[in-house]
Amino acid sequence: MGRAERAIVIGGGIGGLTAAVALHRRGARVTVLERAPSLEPVGAAISLAPNALRGLDAIGLGDDIRALSAWQGDGGLRAPSGRWLSRTGAAAAEERFGGPLVLLHRATLIDHLAARLPPDSVRTAAAAHLVDPGEAG
Ligand SMILES: Cc1cc2nc3c(=O)[nH]c(=O)nc-3n(C[C@H](O)[C@H](O)[C@H](O)COP(=O)(O)OP(=O)(O)OC[C@H]3O[C@@H](n4cnc5c(N)ncnc54)[C@H](O)[C@@H]3O)c2cc1C
Repeated sequence: MGRAERAIVIGGGIGGLTAAVALHRRGARVTVLERAPSLEPVGAAISLAPNALRGLDAIGLGDDIRALSAWQGDGGLRAPSGRWLSRTGAAAAEERFGGPLVLLHRATLIDHLAARLPPDSVRTAAAAHLVDPGEAG
């Protein structure tokens, strides 16, 4: 980008904030419109797989997040009955997918993303509405 272009990102979730940081790093003046009254995320924890962490590498955040916590030991998925659907270990997963699985609080990830944007670039309680100008323009 040769000059500061404007970008509007609708939604201040993980996806929107990541896009906003990427645009900001490319020199755009970004505004994030989030309809919720705050950026406080729904849900508690999130596990970030190596491909997600490589996505965060693209905006310079991957290593900061990797440093927070990594899954250790064994884990997997169970059916409601308790029967194991799949089981694996952190070391096996790391070898297979090329990196650790990082478990962290969603709010921590949101905070790290928002901190990489200039102050006042996120507007909460700001719902965007699509407008169709119609054929007459
Ligand atoms: C129970 C559960 C567990 C999960 N666990 C994991 C996990 O462990 N690891 C993982 O990688 N993924 C996980 N996911 C998936 C992950 O949470 C989502 O892929 C991710 O949060 C999507 O982010 P997003 O920003 O695209 O969307 P969202 O988080 O849905 O954010 C969209 C935002 O846009 C706002 N918005 C919508 N419309 C408007 C509008 N018109 N104007 C303004 N704002 C608007 C909404 O308020 C919202 O804040 C899980 C999902 C669920 C449901």
